[in-house]
Amino acid sequence: MRAFAEVDLDALRANVALLREKAGSARLLAVVKADAYGHGLIPCAKAALEGGAQWLGVALLEEALALRASGIKARTLAWMTPLGSDFDSAIREDIDLSIPSREHLKAVIASGRKVGVRPRIHLEIDTGMSRGGVMSESSDFRELIAEIADAVKRDLIEVVGAWSHFARADEPEEAMNEEQVARFDRALDEIFASGLSIPLHHIANSAATLSDRNNARARYSMMRGGIAIYGLSPEVKTMGDSRSLGLKPVMTLKAQLQLVKDVSAGSSVGYGASAILERDTKLGVVAMGYADGIPRNANSSAGVFVIDGKGGRRAPIIGRVSMDQFVVDLGKDSRAKTGDFVTVFGDGATGEYTADDWAHASGTISYEIVTRLGPRVPRIWRNHERSSG
Ligand SMILES: *Cc1c(COP(=O)(O)O)cnc(C)c1O
Repeated sequence: MRAFAEVDLDALRANVALLREKAGSARLLAVVKADAYGHGLIPCAKAALEGGAQWLGVALLEEALALRASGIKARTLAWMTPLGSDFDSAIREDIDLSIPSREHLKAVIASGRKVGVRPRIHLEIDTGMSRGGVMSESSDFRELIAEIADAVKRDLIEVVGAWSHFARADEPEEAMNEEQVARFDRALDEIFASGLSIPLHHIANSAATLSDRNNARARYSMMRGGIAIYGLSPEVKTMGDSRSLGLKPVMTLKAQLQLVKDVSAGSSVGYGASAILERDTKLGVVAMGYADGIPRNANSSAGVFVIDGKGGRRAPIIGRVSMDQFVVDLGKDSRAKTGDFVTVFGDGATGEYTADDWAHASGTISYEIVTRLGPRVPRIWRNHERSSG
């Protein structure tokens, strides 16, 4: 196996337990969309429930159905379900559905009638992001509430939740967070005024859950944790890194050195000859590339961690990342050998690069670094059985 991602399910359980604590009496929904941010849907969903999450959340219905097919019965919310999605199966499989529009409501009610089961819905309210959900304080919102109230009266649906999403929760000091909460509160007031009672209200993501300031104002009755359960910081600059947040990165990405060789000063490295060696050195050819999800534009502030002799050392990327491989500068006196395994990213505890380093080196966020890992990279789950209390 020339490359693989180790996924530490104990670390995931511990991260979930930390968020659970931060959620207090509110429930915790563990977000496992996009194959659990690249970590593997089913093992991570199970570990999240073991760690104390009461709900699971996904974007697509297909993801929710995959959870059910594996025997997971926990309450599950799906929130990105375009018209034409298989609502019949969702309702049959006891999946909660998010409703952002009258069109969605109509489709879900029709499916519920066909299947003979009352669908459970969460009203999705746009409080400022202009993305998902019905715009709060709009005529669309009022019409949607009226239609929902009518459907409840006729026993066609059960309304479980009303929810929204933050645009800038990873900047805890931004006034926009407060504004979104205020809009959410006004929307909830309107809903109550219409006579509807909705038990669950939720708006917080990882960043809002982890920031004391926003946790206090955005707790409501449920919090949705995504990136933090995988042990990564929502934003290192504004919120601190994993360690300072008490999180443990869950994924360690390892790859083999396809080749180690001495190359002399003046040689160019890789496509476009974008790097020229300034001194004689030893290069390592790492057996992963952009086909595996390694960002092509990653620069030399990322690389691999090589165990050679005492401890280990970082070997930065040199030249451009190619489809199946990239080159690192091991240093002239490196004892790394052809065939050795190196760490592409890990928790950083012994000096490895982290997913945050890779994000920084390629102008993106850690979310994308882990999620974009391709299907050619096997995931190996460690600690299937809980090894600590
Ligand atoms: C992805 C997602 C989350 C999780 O966000 P994190 O920043 O990863 O915690 C929460 N809610 C919704 C609606 C999402 O799409």
